[in-house]
Amino acid sequence: MSTSATRLASVDEHLSTVLGLVGNTPVERIPVADCLGLAIAEDLRSPVALPPFDNSAMDGYAVRARDIRDAPVELPVTDDIPAGKTELTDLAPGTAQRIMTGAPVPPGADAVVQVELTDGGVERVLVHGEVEPGAHIRRAGEDVRVGDVVLRAGAELGPAQLGLAAAVGAGELPVRRRPRVLVLSTGSELVAPGNPLLPGQIYESNGVMLAAAIRSAGALAEVLSFVPDDVEAFHRALEDRLESADLIVTSGGVSAGAYEVVKDAFTGNGVEFRKVAMQPGMPQGAGKYRGVPVVTLPGNPVSAQVSFEVFLRPALRSAMGHAVIQRPTRSAVITEALRSPSGRRQFRRGLLDPAAGTVELVGGPGSHLLSALAVANCLVVVPEGVSEVAAGEAVTVVGLDA
Ligand code: AMP
Ligand code: MG
Repeated sequence: MSTSATRLASVDEHLSTVLGLVGNTPVERIPVADCLGLAIAEDLRSPVALPPFDNSAMDGYAVRARDIRDAPVELPVTDDIPAGKTELTDLAPGTAQRIMTGAPVPPGADAVVQVELTDGGVERVLVHGEVEPGAHIRRAGEDVRVGDVVLRAGAELGPAQLGLAAAVGAGELPVRRRPRVLVLSTGSELVAPGNPLLPGQIYESNGVMLAAAIRSAGALAEVLSFVPDDVEAFHRALEDRLESADLIVTSGGVSAGAYEVVKDAFTGNGVEFRKVAMQPGMPQGAGKYRGVPVVTLPGNPVSAQVSFEVFLRPALRSAMGHAVIQRPTRSAVITEALRSPSGRRQFRRGLLDPAAGTVELVGGPGSHLLSALAVANCLVVVPEGVSEVAAGEAVTVVGLDA
């Protein structure tokens, strides 16, 4: 990693550094119900067909379509087939069997006539409308055939994917273990929320925010007690904790001033610091401290959160084996003009109206404007080569929901 003072690293360069740092976590098999939001680690092939057998799509009567072609017609009802019935009798010509939705279609029947077209009889049934052969029968294998790959390795497991896994009989799924992330905030000005503030102090907010972001990305977060700008205290906070961590994320203490505790503690210890061509979030660092991946985020809350979005969320998703590590982007028409520092990628907080396709900016570019971040639902991304955008122009936005 270049430490050159003159050249800024690009966002993409720093992203690839961070992606390369956090390796895949090991695969384990866990109950399907615990897999929400994780990525399946291997292709899932179905050992069964879906539906597993021809079954009825309606409550009604299993018949031979030709027997009711001259409806109205009355047929004897020779059997009753509730869902779950495993022993079936063959349907004799000129007869009907009462059948429920999801129940197996008996051999000999080629259609189901829905109850609405009948008098609902139990012993005998009067059918007053005809149906085509094959009507209201869901064929075995119509949805999934035996051996089909139903989920590809890397697919995210949302509600539909979990339902599908269960439907093909999976009790557990192979997923990559959630990375364990230690979060350490730094700053002698920080006070834990709930305590009184002295002049010059502020409440510590990056810890809870980054931990929540890490958890939303599917990883495990543990917030270490934040430390003052003191190298000894910083090392002490990490001591004993390294073994259990897949990643350490710090915030603060990486800018160009004095008392930059993270820089002071990590420089020469495997972590390199660089300036990245972005706004906010210019001062970044990454490396391995005693073998454990470390990503150091700037302290300003908006910088920290934007840096998380740009570098860490993709890295955590990559570590967990997601095929898609980036959030989807879309284009929207911006409702006001903006300026962006040339040569840097700017990330502004925005409020996207998805139906109108417009985005308005919330708050200014300042990286301390946390309340604007809290009402934003997207980031507006202004590319490095663009220094001005006029109202009414199209911009790229990244949604921040979920
Ligand atoms: P630093 O990078 O340490 O110079 O911090 C930049 C700015 O972010 C300063 O105004 C800090 O007070 C603020 N800051 C740093 N860490 C935190 C934190 N954990 N919670 C809230 N604000 C912070
Ligand atoms: Mg600080």
